[in-house]
Amino acid sequence: MLPVACVGCGAPDRALCRACRCALDALPGRTRLVAGVRLDAAHEYDGLVRTLVLEWKLRGRVDIVSGLTRRTADLVRAALAAAPVGALVLRVPPSSRGHRRRGFDPVVTVLRRAGVRRARALRRVPVPQAGPGSDSGPAPDAGLGPARAGTDGRGQKERTAVERVAATVGSLVADGVADHDVVLVDDVVTTGVTMAEAVRAVRAAGGRVVRCVAVATVEV
Ligand SMILES: [Zn+2]
Repeated sequence: MLPVACVGCGAPDRALCRACRCALDALPGRTRLVAGVRLDAAHEYDGLVRTLVLEWKLRGRVDIVSGLTRRTADLVRAALAAAPVGALVLRVPPSSRGHRRRGFDPVVTVLRRAGVRRARALRRVPVPQAGPGSDSGPAPDAGLGPARAGTDGRGQKERTAVERVAATVGSLVADGVADHDVVLVDDVVTTGVTMAEAVRAVRAAGGRVVRCVAVATVEV
């Protein structure tokens, strides 16, 4: 066995010590609006929470995120309790790159804990590429315009806000949600572009998004 130290404070013997667990439990959740829908996040994506989420997503450290999954599962249950009877839960799928690297989806862990047995994921589809010669940036108002930057190898953080939206619109499809109320669940919401695309996809398919839930979100 390798020696273990708390990922929060470095104290020996525990992967996440009692003091850090108590500190986490005392942190308030976060609520914001995404595409006009209330998003409830169990935590702000900062400090110890950010460290834990990265250890979870990048290294598969499920041993240290029990508190995060419990609080997020509680939010999923609360969202379903507040929603009309028969509401569906839909997962925002991980990026294909992230999923290949990790081999698991943290949102599935959360939903299992919430007792949601059947939660389909939205489907990722290729965003239609613009024609040749379109490698210049999009005009500020070109919401569906030329710079579909999905395959140029740059990460989301290196794109401008307009490029991020242009590269994301049309990238998700929601199946079987017509006339249904839907709760959307993702792990981390930063810019909100992906969650907003999930909301758009549900609406485009004739569904109603009644709540979004995430493990963590940045302060906006
Ligand atoms: Zn600690």
